[in-house]
Amino acid sequence: MPARRLPPQIHVFVRDWLSANHVLLKSRDGHVLVDSGYGRHAPLTLALLRTARGLGGEPLAWLVNTHCHSDHIGGNAAIAAHYGCPIAIPEGEAAAVLRWDERALLLGYADQTVERFAFASVLVPGSSHVWGDLEWLALAAPGHDMGALVFYNPEHGILISGDALWQQGFGLVMPPAIDPAALPATRRTLEMLAALEVRMVIPGHGEPFGDVHAALDRAFRRLASFEADPLRAARYALKALLSFTLLDRRRLPLAGMAEYVERVGVYRDFNATFFQLPPQRFADTLIGELRSAGAVREEDGWLLPA
Ligand SMILES: [Zn+2]
Repeated sequence: MPARRLPPQIHVFVRDWLSANHVLLKSRDGHVLVDSGYGRHAPLTLALLRTARGLGGEPLAWLVNTHCHSDHIGGNAAIAAHYGCPIAIPEGEAAAVLRWDERALLLGYADQTVERFAFASVLVPGSSHVWGDLEWLALAAPGHDMGALVFYNPEHGILISGDALWQQGFGLVMPPAIDPAALPATRRTLEMLAALEVRMVIPGHGEPFGDVHAALDRAFRRLASFEADPLRAARYALKALLSFTLLDRRRLPLAGMAEYVERVGVYRDFNATFFQLPPQRFADTLIGELRSAGAVREEDGWLLPA
């Protein structure tokens, strides 16, 4: 089902892999925005919101988040400052955001930075909300992020899935040795989503899509491959994290990669847990895998996204 068949008060700003998509739910009772994108792209996010497809000059009533990773909350502070709107986050994220837990939020721990923001309210799993004149159920969707929510509108069968389900898979999931709850939670979440009547998914990244069964099939297959081989989940997570950082920085000096994987917590922990390699060899292995996957290239001493 193409995006044009979404109800007219739903506006999806499809972004990229660095900035999560924004979903604007418009209503005379107040407009609500789901997810704010990546921090460095906040000026573009604000420009998109100012367009006629966005808010024009109208106020924003609420900013809500599916989960609290840098590509979904990066624009929170800028949008709240610009529109003076309150922010609501999933209840399961509140403790980590309150203490600004750089590890749980995959911030400093994954070499990510987000401007700190305050939230006014939490979204409780199982609660229902009227946004854009539609009823949305906030459903717990742990796995990629253990506090994540998805928002489901039963009337139209629309699912705002965040990173719990994409057309090709889902967001990185921590392997059992790092978080033993993550893979089982991912399975429960996919099973929960499979039991919903979904006709259109608005994912956190990529275009909205209608073929939910095929997407779930792919997601279950990826999950099964991670369950069968936790090291595969670890490698996938590392590659996703480093590719993400490269999208942000645009390039990293190859000569500094050993120091980088030693300094940034997530790489250090994964190496200690899964690989036990000297930093240079660990960096070379990681870069080699990204190169074989066609995700990076090397040029004049720099590592660049392919
Ligand atoms: Zn994301």
